[in-house]
Amino acid sequence: MFVCGPTVYDYAHLGHARTYIAFDIIARYLTSLGYPLRYLMNITDVADRIFEKAKELGKNPRELTLEFEQAFKDDMVALGVKSIQSYARASDYVPQVIEQVRGLIRKGMAYETGTGVYFEVSKFPRFGSLSRLSHEELSLRRLELCSSKKFPEDFSIWRKHNSAPLWDSPWGPGRPGWHIEDTAISIHNFGETYHIHGGASELMFPHHEAEIAQAEALTGKVPFVKFWLHTGLLKVDGRKMSKSLGNVVLIRNALKEYSAQELRWYFASFHYREPVIMSTHALEKSRSEFKSFSRDIEAFRKGSTAVRSSESRKLNQLIRCLERDFARVMNDDFYTPGAIRTLHKYSAQVSRLTRVDERVLKRANFSFSRLMDILGVEPNTTKRE
Ligand SMILES: [Zn+2]
Repeated sequence: MFVCGPTVYDYAHLGHARTYIAFDIIARYLTSLGYPLRYLMNITDVADRIFEKAKELGKNPRELTLEFEQAFKDDMVALGVKSIQSYARASDYVPQVIEQVRGLIRKGMAYETGTGVYFEVSKFPRFGSLSRLSHEELSLRRLELCSSKKFPEDFSIWRKHNSAPLWDSPWGPGRPGWHIEDTAISIHNFGETYHIHGGASELMFPHHEAEIAQAEALTGKVPFVKFWLHTGLLKVDGRKMSKSLGNVVLIRNALKEYSAQELRWYFASFHYREPVIMSTHALEKSRSEFKSFSRDIEAFRKGSTAVRSSESRKLNQLIRCLERDFARVMNDDFYTPGAIRTLHKYSAQVSRLTRVDERVLKRANFSFSRLMDILGVEPNTTKRE
């Protein structure tokens, strides 16, 4: 699984949390099913926005990206996002980018102009099929403004530049295009075809369309990726959370108000494809739900040991139903709202069963812990072992 990572020139906000918590849950679930998952995320540390910001602040770009890369990783740890096994920096993959650009030119899919090297979109008829955009719609969306391109829909895979930071290439000094950074990283690490590519829904076009075009045109292997998973936007008062709208809440600030488990419980109450509607009211409602869930788990774990065999039997039965219902909703395209409801429902029922056999209690504790860990919502309660 490859998921598009952050551009490291600022702190991550709740829109990032929404996406990366969703993929963390998906990764944890797949791993729990026994899939030998490899989860790789790229770090975009080569981008004009970064270099502009570094210049503004009078900082070395490398210093700036390393600082925000570390801040991002710290935020992920604080949110309990623990499934990402490796990160790949775009700046470490420039030779692979150059190799891919060369290959695309050789195949007649890309051409050089005075400003860079461009992928010729009309030579790849499947372009637009992921986002299901028609040719008319595509022609209305100019990907990048540049007068030297043959067609407005063509996108850059190498850009000529004369100000640092620069990398040498057969086309003179310059920088990689954004889209090709990801195919350079993923093909190098996973080969020509792999299973899951994730990212926020706004990346579907043009970013992921461009990735498919580059990879499939280059390798001839179809499909480049078997499953594309896109997370819905985070919306505040009906609008996207973004810096330009001034409605950004940073992860590190949100964590001063809410615990990581509370935030994860909230985000998991939306399916990953849906938009997340953010409001203080909704967050508070979700928090009180999580509190009642935590109280139930606590009550159950602290139960008395005066055993009643009828309660043990009942608990055994409930745990079997819990496991079955949880798997059913998660197997349906990772339907986390159903998973949250299932945990909540059974926690209320088991909290009334406290006079159970030690062995049964242990098994029930194990089941609950395992399922709560998939969502990352285990409350900080004391376990009776
Ligand atoms: Zn990407």
